[in-house]
Amino acid sequence: MLYERAMRIKPSPTLAVDAKAKAMKAQGMDVVNFGVGEPDFDTPEHVKEAAIKAIRDGFTKYTPVGGIDELKDGIISKFKNDNGLEYAKEEILVSCGAKHSLYNIAQALFGAGDEVIIPSPYWVSYPDQALLNDAVPVIVRTYEEDNFMLKPDVLESKITKKTKALIINSPSNPTGFAYDKKTLEAIADIALKHNIFVISDEIYEKLVYDGAQHISIASFGKDIKDKTIVVNGLSKSHAMTGWRIGYAAGPKDIIKAMTNIQSQSTSNPTSIAQKAAVAALTGPQDFTAMMHAEFDKRRNFLVDGLNSIGGVKCLKPNGAFYAFPNVSKLYGKRAGDRAINSSFDMAMYLLEEANVALVHGEAFGDDSYIRISYATSMENIKKGLDRIKEAVSKLK
Ligand SMILES: *Cc1c(COP(=O)(O)O)cnc(C)c1O
Repeated sequence: MLYERAMRIKPSPTLAVDAKAKAMKAQGMDVVNFGVGEPDFDTPEHVKEAAIKAIRDGFTKYTPVGGIDELKDGIISKFKNDNGLEYAKEEILVSCGAKHSLYNIAQALFGAGDEVIIPSPYWVSYPDQALLNDAVPVIVRTYEEDNFMLKPDVLESKITKKTKALIINSPSNPTGFAYDKKTLEAIADIALKHNIFVISDEIYEKLVYDGAQHISIASFGKDIKDKTIVVNGLSKSHAMTGWRIGYAAGPKDIIKAMTNIQSQSTSNPTSIAQKAAVAALTGPQDFTAMMHAEFDKRRNFLVDGLNSIGGVKCLKPNGAFYAFPNVSKLYGKRAGDRAINSSFDMAMYLLEEANVALVHGEAFGDDSYIRISYATSMENIKKGLDRIKEAVSKLK
């Protein structure tokens, strides 16, 4: 018999949409895939070369569980230069992707009855990782009027004696919005006042637009730094999703517990991928700048295109590579005998009738929206927009 824990969670809905789109493609259908959550660029050449060199040099054995010193040094420099944060080696843990970093945190911090505040729309793994560790996800809704930022007074109203942590994701997947400094400062004050941990997922740090600046909540002073675990990684910044390198930085005792957990589960992240990550962090950063410029162009084009479709409303996000249009005005309409009453209906309609794959907002906790990833070519974006426009025009 399966233990009840295994039945609490569901497979990642974003990966499911991607699988369906790929299956349609395999049948020879011309699908525009807006469902993907990874950059469409190839990993930079110098990063690949570093991995090839690691293989040739025989750097193919176990490494220290928490990552090689060279990589920890690269991460420490990154925090110092990009975020104004000073960490020691014992305050850093390298894991098999940022998702694994988050999982280690959940294992180390969460327990039965603990409440974890998760603003919605949320990244799909936060609630399920809490559930897997016997904690209770407390979903707190945010609104497009506030650029999907959690309001500090709303946060405070949700804190109870059982609240253990708050998870913040800025810039956000799926909304594409980054928090501003004022809001983050107010959130930090409330976290300190009520003595709760802040888990700050900063994986889209390098992708902010329109003059927005990424700020780490841990950078507001020693007190909040001592209550924050920052999570970051190479997947998005260097198009390295398949290499599985992420990292966490935080108080020594928490990092030590997470390292022990990792030592009894995965052991070290792949030795070769660690060498590649060193090259990514310490080598030239022109790749990230090129990718950023390209995403910025697509973002402008996509959002303008979406807003030209009747019944669709899309704020211009200032981060990540997602647009999150509100399509709820179209609910209640029909195409023939197909009724559109939810984000899932809309996603299925667009997939089956227009060959456009995207993710229903309900998967992220808000049924009024759909998530469109612009990590795909401009040509695909144009084609996809035309198809959505035509499909929506048929709704009566
Ligand atoms: C992609 C993503 C991650 C996980 O990245 P990996 O390092 O590939 O595990 C974590 N958080 C968010 C919000 C993401 O979109």
